[in-house]
Amino acid sequence: MDPGRNDIGRIVAEIAEEMRGHAHRGKVADYIPPLACVPVEKFGLAVVMADGTVHCAGDCDEPFSIQSISKVFALTLVLGAVGDQLWKRVGREPSGSAFNSIVQLETEHGIPRNPFINAGAIVVCDVLLGGLQPREAIGQMLRFVRELAGDDTIAIDETVARAEQETGFRNMALANYMRAFGNIHAPVDLVLGTYFHFCALAMSCRQLALAGRFLMADGRNPVSGFSVVTPRRARRINALMMSCGHYDNSGDFAYRIGLPGKSGVGGGILAVVPGIASIAVWSPGLNRSGNSHLGQLALERLVQKTGWSVFEPR
Ligand code: GLN
Repeated sequence: MDPGRNDIGRIVAEIAEEMRGHAHRGKVADYIPPLACVPVEKFGLAVVMADGTVHCAGDCDEPFSIQSISKVFALTLVLGAVGDQLWKRVGREPSGSAFNSIVQLETEHGIPRNPFINAGAIVVCDVLLGGLQPREAIGQMLRFVRELAGDDTIAIDETVARAEQETGFRNMALANYMRAFGNIHAPVDLVLGTYFHFCALAMSCRQLALAGRFLMADGRNPVSGFSVVTPRRARRINALMMSCGHYDNSGDFAYRIGLPGKSGVGGGILAVVPGIASIAVWSPGLNRSGNSHLGQLALERLVQKTGWSVFEPR
């Protein structure tokens, strides 16, 4: 199946229409007020093709809290800074546990299973702070996503960052626990301040899909040709997204959708079709694992209609 460009525009519009009427939307994250007040009816979808064409539908230009999707950009930055050294401090296996789980850290000596669960992303922030002050790391992240998306209006929502800080007791526990094992080096409050600001990045589906372009194009911006990471690194980040991007729901995501993807509790998902498209979807209602319920359904429809699963023979 190889849908033409006009077909993609039609398919994106059809999916948005189908999702608009959907009764079962999941539950909006309520651990902080700025997320709890987001209307469950919101839905946005953006598909950026390798030739630069953008197909958008619904609330695709409304910024939302990207939350754990920022873990993809943080991983990309830290691999650029320290390369494969990172893997001494973070694993590359799916956890099979909740995104904020602490249980494996005891038997695994403070080494988180992967960089896409909270514990792993907190270590990633600590490694970044090996060479930078928190303000510099946060500035670097903001400049990075703005450059990837080609959009200087992308910002961090300070209200979200503050609320994360005020309620982040589990994250504090994770960081302190890992510090006890010697796997956090910088002061815990600085590491978490950085982590919370990354989570508080606000982006629209259009901006997020644009920012994900390098992952669909062997590490390059497919339009400018500018290289962000090597082809091998892009493939490896995609592999981690496929195996670990949806926490204890990652196997089911791979089974149903068959694409590298990363979710956040703001209800966003970034998905990559290597060589073909970068996709962002947003619907704030979550399933039990903290992944967007309709976002996953929309992606499932999209791969059914386009044949874009990486397991589809090309
Ligand atoms: N800010 C959230 C947390 O640290 C991010 C988690 C997520 O998106 N799954 O708990």
